[in-house]
Amino acid sequence: MEIVTNKLQKPAYSESCLVDPFGREMNYLRLAITNRCNLRCLYCMPAEGIPLNSRDFILQFEEMEKLIQIFQNLGVNKLRITGGEPFVRKGLLEFLKRVNKFEKINLINLTTNAVFIGNIISDLEGLKIGSLNISLDSLKKDRFFKVTRRDDFDILIKNIDKAIKSKISIKLNMVVLAGINDDEIISFTRLVKDKPIEVRFIEQMPFSGGPASESIMSADQILDILRQQYPLLYEQSLPNSTARIFHNPGYKGTIGIIAGYSRTFCSSCTRLRVTPEGILKTCLYDRGAVNLKEMLRSGKTDLQIKNAIILAVQNRAKDGFESQERYNRNSNLSMAQIGG
Ligand code: SAM
Repeated sequence: MEIVTNKLQKPAYSESCLVDPFGREMNYLRLAITNRCNLRCLYCMPAEGIPLNSRDFILQFEEMEKLIQIFQNLGVNKLRITGGEPFVRKGLLEFLKRVNKFEKINLINLTTNAVFIGNIISDLEGLKIGSLNISLDSLKKDRFFKVTRRDDFDILIKNIDKAIKSKISIKLNMVVLAGINDDEIISFTRLVKDKPIEVRFIEQMPFSGGPASESIMSADQILDILRQQYPLLYEQSLPNSTARIFHNPGYKGTIGIIAGYSRTFCSSCTRLRVTPEGILKTCLYDRGAVNLKEMLRSGKTDLQIKNAIILAVQNRAKDGFESQERYNRNSNLSMAQIGG
């Protein structure tokens, strides 16, 4: 893991400790709590899964809590819990309840495939959950099986319906795969006519854990399809959002497009990631900046960990292209190993 030490300036008037060289204040931490997943989505994991190390290899909940404590003292106030599939990890709900008590964390979002959430939605309603982002790549059962290689469509649809009826705000994430599910963009958009949810179309990124994909469809292509069908579609501007958000007049919900491959939102990205193995990433496309697990397990003090995080942020690349180039990142990790 390299740290480039040539540009360590901090903008003058910022209160936050985590400001990158381009003035972006990092207040959002995405914590991937496991690399295991019950599904095998084509664009995320090979059919045989990814190599799994012993449980010791990934961060323990107490270690994560310690890190969240450190991050909140550095100015992080939003958390996303992701994976792998977060709900395959035993003890998640108890962990969430403990994190819920962290004073400076005022929002906890979750990304899940929703297969296991049926019985715990009411527990989640009692926490500071801002949104539940649920992955759903097809509204057709046979196609869902083709994409996820698992037969969980019925339970997932049932759980999504339950979640929509709850107090939690729901976002459906659909990774658009050319030639596989791109003909469902309009059917997905119709869901937001009567439902106050957000449907988000995500550009496929090169994190399949296998060979590069040929089914990438760009955010611009997705928007063209939407504009043809919905000429009155208008865009809402949101600060620091990775998604471009659109409304169709009369529709209850919203439509998001996430250009994760084109990387058009990097200038406003304020996200940090910690992988299941405890590696801090300041960009999805970098190779990792600090091994936080090693620091925790070798008895480094909170101050030393804090300083390492600050330094990593001060060395943050301008965008995903610079990150990729700087670290010559050519390994195709699975998104489950990085934390989606
Ligand atoms: N298991 C959970 C789920 O299915 O939502 C959380 C982890 S998953 C890695 C998080 C998000 O990353 C999902 O919305 C998934 O669709 C997205 N994702 C995974 N691999 C991707 C890829 N190669 N390109 C774009 N998005 C991807």
